Amino acid sequence: MKNFKERFEELIESMGKQKRGSQIQMAVAVDDSIGQNHPLIVQAGTGTGKSMAYLVPAILSGEKVVISTATKALQEQLIKKDIPEAFGSLNMPDRSQILKGRGNYVCLKKISELNSDVVVVAESDSDSMFDNDRFFIEDSSKDQLDRSLNGVKTKKPNSVKSNPNIQAILRWLNSTSTGDVEDSGISLKPFELASIVSTFSECPGAKNCSLSNRCFAEIAKRRAQESQIIVVNHALYAQHLKSNKAVLPDHDVVVFDEAHELEDILLRSMGTEISLSSINSLLSSVKKSARLLSIEDDINQLMGARFNPHIVIFRDFLVNNKGKRIKHPLSEDILESLTNIKDLMVLLKTTLANADDSSKTQSAFEFGDSTAGSNSSNETPKDVLN
Ligand code: SF4
Repeated sequence: MKNFKERFEELIESMGKQKRGSQIQMAVAVDDSIGQNHPLIVQAGTGTGKSMAYLVPAILSGEKVVISTATKALQEQLIKKDIPEAFGSLNMPDRSQILKGRGNYVCLKKISELNSDVVVVAESDSDSMFDNDRFFIEDSSKDQLDRSLNGVKTKKPNSVKSNPNIQAILRWLNSTSTGDVEDSGISLKPFELASIVSTFSECPGAKNCSLSNRCFAEIAKRRAQESQIIVVNHALYAQHLKSNKAVLPDHDVVVFDEAHELEDILLRSMGTEISLSSINSLLSSVKKSARLLSIEDDINQLMGARFNPHIVIFRDFLVNNKGKRIKHPLSEDILESLTNIKDLMVLLKTTLANADDSSKTQSAFEFGDSTAGSNSSNETPKDVLN
């Protein structure tokens, strides 16, 4: 029986490609790595044929493999060219699926909530993922079905009627099986996109969504579950790690292509970014809420002698490390300052909540919390604290 190296060489020849020593060496190393369950780092120059060198052993292993890339261009190349070619040369059906972040797929719940007139009714209870059932838009003026829209009945909201791009998306929804906005070829402005997709944090989760059976993001995830090879980007893989492995299906092997970008992307997605403006913004919101509640004196007292010195220490630390990545362990004094600042925030929140148990004021504080980092005021830390 032929060993992996011989099989790979034969395969490359059958594809009409030139045999390259470095590609064969890499393919054998990947095969060993998967078979013996040990990590492998490969650095190979342009023209090595890296994709085929990891795709062939990955497919032959029979394991469930996630391939993560940094760029869209490589994702496209893999899903449209390299992966079909690799499966084809092995005489196997293509069992691959690209999986993107939730914010890339049209959210049917958002479509239904574009304005308050919209009513969504599931057209079918079918659990089938790949059937050809259609959704329907209900025309609110005529109260009759006038258009098909992949399985949900909605009343046409005025805002949809008046926006040509959203209208084009609704028409496209009649024919798409992916719901991936990029597939529509329609160039949306950020606010248009935000009105039709849900981010990871906006979606209440499939269990809490009445349309999850038809949800494009959920369908893509289920398709990925049934595939052997799943193509994602590094940001989505980072989200998977951050969410305690809740984003991607279980898998046996992960290949990070374009790994030189991995560290930065993982840090951006998984690290904590803290800035002076975010602290200022938060404190400004606290002061505004305190003014509304007429408890400014209490709040100023809380921010006074006990906490101000720590905020000043932390501010100086940030100024001295501007633009740098701060690694663990932090020094004792910075840790102490951060702990005290955190205590201050908890105390302020409790004080505000106690002062006003109406949800309005609580919302004002939460608003300040969630927009931390987008401080539009020119207050310096001193201004905020004084
Ligand atoms: S599960 Fe989430 S993304 Fe899907 S339709 Fe419901 S709210 Fe939208």
